[in-house]
Amino acid sequence: MTADLLPPLRDVIAHYGLRARKSLGQNFLLDLNLTGRIARAAGALDKSPIVEIGPGPGGLTRALLNSGAAQVVAIEKDERCLEALEDIARAYPGRLRVIAGDALEFDLAGIGAPLVKLVANLPYNVATPLLIKWLTPAQWPPVWESLTLMFQKEVAERITAPVGGKAYGRLAVLTQWRCDAHMLFDIDPRAFTPAPKVTSTVVQITPRSPRAEAELTDLQAVAAAAFGQRRKMLRRSLTVLGHDTGRLLETAGLPPTQRAEAIDIEGFCALARAYHNLQHMR
Ligand code: SAM
Repeated sequence: MTADLLPPLRDVIAHYGLRARKSLGQNFLLDLNLTGRIARAAGALDKSPIVEIGPGPGGLTRALLNSGAAQVVAIEKDERCLEALEDIARAYPGRLRVIAGDALEFDLAGIGAPLVKLVANLPYNVATPLLIKWLTPAQWPPVWESLTLMFQKEVAERITAPVGGKAYGRLAVLTQWRCDAHMLFDIDPRAFTPAPKVTSTVVQITPRSPRAEAELTDLQAVAAAAFGQRRKMLRRSLTVLGHDTGRLLETAGLPPTQRAEAIDIEGFCALARAYHNLQHMR
């Protein structure tokens, strides 16, 4: 079968009996204008392999290939989708590799390319753990050069939140510490089959040099402590770290009466370094 003769996605879903499963976060995007828009948002597609998480029946996969992706590596957990994906692979010879498996356990370095781009309409039930996995590799810069990902709008707002807002929290600190992150556009729930309850947003994330020096594990520990009790002043919320919080905050140069949401990324890094020093003085 050639690319032009691939059947419409609705027919593919009916033919292979791909009734959407909530447990797999399945909300399929069948609108070619929207899948094309997401594919184009990823920029040049012909330089590095494109890794797609959760291709499902293959709407976004086809859009990526139609938009000039030289190589797509698609990782899908639902074995029911594999035949439909193999049909696409045959229509685009040598350009689509389908991997059956769980993206949470997949090591991007295993693709064997120096750099990849990730593009996905993510399964909402594992979207945040997947993002955290990609943000916390053993080496920085990471093996990915960009992430073009669809999240629930509320999660997109938490990823891109500026300091001081109610969406600002651990996810914003972890992301923005060493990435630039922007919301690109929203997608109405009615564009999906079945329609989810909430609006979705496509986010573009690119790696950068860290905004300030810190060890990843220290930064995660202080952000978890501070935002774990975000309404409390830092001198109270940070007690879970098991140190003299007055000393910790003084070393970091932060006012003890501040709350977590008022501390910018540089402030969290200062806190992480102060925590690191106290840990190693014991
Ligand atoms: N890309 C398709 C589209 O845009 O129509 C499907 C998107 S749907 C929101 C999420 C897809 O991720 C589903 O195909 C689902 O089976 C798959 N999925 C769910 N959990 C997964 C995991 N842990 N690893 C890989 N794929 C997963």
